[in-house]
Amino acid sequence: MTQSATAQSVDATSEQAQSGALTDGFHLLIDALKLNDVKTIYGVPGIPITDFGRMAQASGIRVLSFRHEQNAGNAAAIAGFLTKKPGICLTVSAPGFLNGLTALAHATTNCWPMILMSGSSEREVVDLMQGDYEEMDQLAIAKPLCKAAYRILHAEDIGIGVARAIRAAVSGRPGGVYLDIPGALLGQVMDEVKGQKSLVKVIDPAPAQIPAPDAVARALDVIKGAKKPLIILGKGAAYAQADDLVREFVETSGIPYLPMSMAKGLLPDTHDLSAGPARSLVLKEADVVIMVGARLNWLLSHGKGKQWGAPHSTKFVQIDIEPKEMDSNVEIVAPLVGDIGSVLSALLDGMGKDWQKAPSDWTEAVKAKKDTNIARMAAKLQNNNVPMDYEGALGALKKIIAERPDAILVNEGANTLDFARSIIDMYKPRKRLDVGTWGVMGVGMGSAIAAAVETGHPVLCVEGDSAFGFSGMEVETICRYNLPVCIVVFNNNGIYRGTDKNESGGEDVATTVFVENARYDMMMKAFGGEGVNVANPDELSRAVNAAMDSGKPTLINAMIDPAAGKESGNIGSLNPVSVVGKK
Ligand code: ADP
Ligand code: MG
Repeated sequence: MTQSATAQSVDATSEQAQSGALTDGFHLLIDALKLNDVKTIYGVPGIPITDFGRMAQASGIRVLSFRHEQNAGNAAAIAGFLTKKPGICLTVSAPGFLNGLTALAHATTNCWPMILMSGSSEREVVDLMQGDYEEMDQLAIAKPLCKAAYRILHAEDIGIGVARAIRAAVSGRPGGVYLDIPGALLGQVMDEVKGQKSLVKVIDPAPAQIPAPDAVARALDVIKGAKKPLIILGKGAAYAQADDLVREFVETSGIPYLPMSMAKGLLPDTHDLSAGPARSLVLKEADVVIMVGARLNWLLSHGKGKQWGAPHSTKFVQIDIEPKEMDSNVEIVAPLVGDIGSVLSALLDGMGKDWQKAPSDWTEAVKAKKDTNIARMAAKLQNNNVPMDYEGALGALKKIIAERPDAILVNEGANTLDFARSIIDMYKPRKRLDVGTWGVMGVGMGSAIAAAVETGHPVLCVEGDSAFGFSGMEVETICRYNLPVCIVVFNNNGIYRGTDKNESGGEDVATTVFVENARYDMMMKAFGGEGVNVANPDELSRAVNAAMDSGKPTLINAMIDPAAGKESGNIGSLNPVSVVGKK
């Protein structure tokens, strides 16, 4: 406990001795979280929150300790996506806080509710910049990177502080919230009865947002006039957990749909109206596009240009909870501001029973294109080549997910991400977790841990060797908590490819190259998990099935042809290339 906190608690003790039992900041913070159904905290212990973590665990909250705050933060972020409740990340001051901040910004960018709670140093000393232990004005630093940031200075404000953080995280467009916990706060003492009364259970934290009737009518008019309509489902639609309404809207309208990567499985990818394998065609030709919890950002070429068939122009209808999202990149002719469940119900009501389904010449054209593309790919997915290529290895994993649709797929990397996204079909909502809006490498282990903890389902992590490296130490965490996580490292000896050469002719390997034929499987063995090295798709398949059956932490090192990958994968040529050539 810090000096001033000691002084304060002595004061409080003498002042309130008569009023009965005492409580303190530790207990009030734990009680406030429990009152609001917080079941799990993801974090890294240390000054000044070590005892807080111990006491939270003793109180029945599950407190999972990670090896690095960024991974704990990524776990909290994905917990928010999966549960519609803020995922909680707990860190120490300055460096721990900064390590957690990347995940907080990531959660905010992806519109997922999360609360980063970081311990902080002595306010009086920090604010006078007198050089405290881990001195940093964390609140000021967090503010521009999250949806809201609060600091609690007094024990009697803990109830309100936690309530504000929860409501800010989940209401409207969800996002990350920073909650600053000065170490001294935890030690502050107050009367227990008054303390309990100060706690707030947040009522209706994410109220329904009903769309205006004229906005619904306007949208239905636009949809009715469409000759080549398309629905785009985004991860906001997956987050909303309005799964039955999404299906009903697609099937009643008869409109082909394109799932963004984390919306895959909202309807099974094998659904008749899925346009996933005809992506280029539908984007280019659609005349009316209905965006459902998806944004017209870089992932959709901002809704304009060649990919959208320019100069032909597309009319957009957009469903989003955030009014400011409308017209962010192109004109939205029919904005529908509201939550996805409420908006889809209103649209379905307006459509009624006799709604004319999308024109069949369009849906048939989409289906024909899709069938051709699927057939073209099918043979490649069957290959049993050594060394493996992406198609062969992912063909094996595609079969496994088809047989185990409840498993959660975590996926990151460059080629490993791009190929897996298009090859592996998903069958159920919120089963695909990946790099999100920013394309962050390093979300893998945090996502896998939270997925296992929050859902209880087995997790299959398909990781590029580079991507895995960002959070690889968490294999110890996976073993420590004995989580049903099977990691497959697509080991191609490097980033994009393992074959690049150092063009200076010097001794160092190229900047994108790793140790040749590394044995990532041995990392898992070091902590008591299973490790398997596989050379072909059959072996890969056997090893993954065994891991999924046993539920034991497993890491499979899958040797991929180092020459098989492409720079930046397939998502677009985002790596700038020098126009005057390389020196
Ligand atoms: P994707 O990357 O899959 O296109 P984005 O994350 O870019 O998806 O977009 C998700 C959108 O969903 C955001 O604009 C967000 O405001 C919106 N959103 C999130 N939750 C809801 C909800 N419950 N109802 C309506 N819109 C939502
Ligand atoms: Mg690689």
